[in-house]
Amino acid sequence: MLHTTAAFDRIGEENAFAVLARATALQQSGKDVINLGIGQPDFSTPAHIVEAAVKALRDGHHGYTPATGLLATREAVVRRTLTTTGVEVSPEQVMIMPGGKPTMFAAIVMFGEPGAEILYPDPGFPIYRSMIEYTGATPVPVPIREENGFAFSAEETLALITEKTRLLILNSPANPTGGVTPRAEIEKLVKGLADHPDVAILSDEIYDVMTYDGEAATSLLAFPEIADRLIVLNGWSKTWAMTGWRLGWSIWPAGGAGRKLYDNVRKLAVNCWSCVNAQSQFAGIAAIDGPQDDVAAMMAAFDRRRKVVVEGLNALPGVTCATPKGAFYAFPNIKGTGWKAKKLASALLEEAGVALIGGPDFGVLGEGYVRLSYANSEENIRRALERMGTFLAEHPARS
Ligand code: PLP
Repeated sequence: MLHTTAAFDRIGEENAFAVLARATALQQSGKDVINLGIGQPDFSTPAHIVEAAVKALRDGHHGYTPATGLLATREAVVRRTLTTTGVEVSPEQVMIMPGGKPTMFAAIVMFGEPGAEILYPDPGFPIYRSMIEYTGATPVPVPIREENGFAFSAEETLALITEKTRLLILNSPANPTGGVTPRAEIEKLVKGLADHPDVAILSDEIYDVMTYDGEAATSLLAFPEIADRLIVLNGWSKTWAMTGWRLGWSIWPAGGAGRKLYDNVRKLAVNCWSCVNAQSQFAGIAAIDGPQDDVAAMMAAFDRRRKVVVEGLNALPGVTCATPKGAFYAFPNIKGTGWKAKKLASALLEEAGVALIGGPDFGVLGEGYVRLSYANSEENIRRALERMGTFLAEHPARS
């Protein structure tokens, strides 16, 4: 009998990967499946970024890099942060990570332990809760409501803070809802956090520039009053279509009580993954400093698809869909169909050839919703909507 730790009995998953595996298996068996399940851009990484990685390898960058990342890559992140937020951070605050998720892991294991409480968005990215449970801390869901435009509510968030709260996780623009929290709400939250100086904040800003209608997302970095307890998660995966490169960054407190956090994450890297490979980091510099036309073209395509998705979903019987303000997800309300969300997602995949994710995979408040990623062609999106319409018209809800 092998005795693994109880922590691993509590660890969760990201069902989007299971749906992707099932969709791929169905496709391999000859079934025509349209995949609106997985959250990754359907575009290739821009060519100049790929070239930078190839050049780095040809130039002989084959060895370990510093645990915190190459200075040049950290400096590129500093430039990028100044451009997007107007805030000047120091390269000594920047940590280059193997993707966005490792920052989540680092922050949650740094603050989570039995007896501690960690607040996280529900519905939200499933790994937050999974990692909180792994540490033995108590997960405290912060409701993210459709009637609030899928923004988080400062009042509701602050009301959930107790003397046991160690970490508050925020995500805007958000997965799975596409919600973007307005600046005024964030200001209100930051003001309220002054009464809770021992609560650290993890702000997941991986979709920071993926917004629509000229509305920019507000970074928590804009608030110096919380700078000594703020961790910002970001990365290359979504903005530059680099999910497979495993490249992300985070920004940690420069001083005050929070300075030791950076040393903690550096040590975690040394113990765990050592460093991020050099070629990805050179690619990351090219992504930040190079032309942004491909990013703009990708966002223009997402915007066109967003309109197709929202219009198409609202035309389906029993379905209503708010217009997402950011990321590349729609989170329609399917309560009017009578279907339970996960049952509908599974029936649509198996019987109609449309892969999407049931809302409960993102938290209990996800019931009554499904998530569609519009990282697929307009033509495929239209075909998927047509299939969904036919399926819903022909199939009454199954319990
Ligand atoms: N944070 C959010 C909100 C996400 O949606 C994702 C990916 O889907 C990540 C973090 C993880 O990004 P990465 O693939 O770079 O680890």
